[in-house]
Amino acid sequence: MRASLAEKGVALTPRRAKLLEVLVASDRHPSVGEIHEEVRRYFPSTSLATIYNTIELLKETGQVLEIEFSGAANRYDGRIPQAHPHLICVECEKIEDLEMVEPSEPLEAISAATGYRLVNRRTDYYGVCPQCQAREGGQQQAPQSLP
Ligand SMILES: [Zn+2]
Ligand SMILES: [Zn+2]
Repeated sequence: MRASLAEKGVALTPRRAKLLEVLVASDRHPSVGEIHEEVRRYFPSTSLATIYNTIELLKETGQVLEIEFSGAANRYDGRIPQAHPHLICVECEKIEDLEMVEPSEPLEAISAATGYRLVNRRTDYYGVCPQCQAREGGQQQAPQSLP
């Protein structure tokens, strides 16, 4: 990760190094705000703009995966920067990697079938996580138990 930034002539400041560390260490898909908070614990004067700029650089070098949302903050995965499926809780907005899913059809095969020049793939599964279900305390009954 550090090497590819250097190749692009980007100076790896201690702040940027910390941001990389936060991204690679987290499997929680943090938002820019969360990354900012974490980096500021070590470098209190870090601006939000610095975080945004560094993430842009990491996107350019393919070292972070951006998970975009129209109605919520984008989230970032520096642990697995290649496109991969996610499990997203609609209650607590937790995002987990869905590692049990087989990587599906290669993009090339889909390109051949559709004529599209595909550049990316996104597969997300939305639901309510076990913790949120437990908190709801069975208010949401299974369909067969409804009158
Ligand atoms: Zn949840
Ligand atoms: Zn992920």
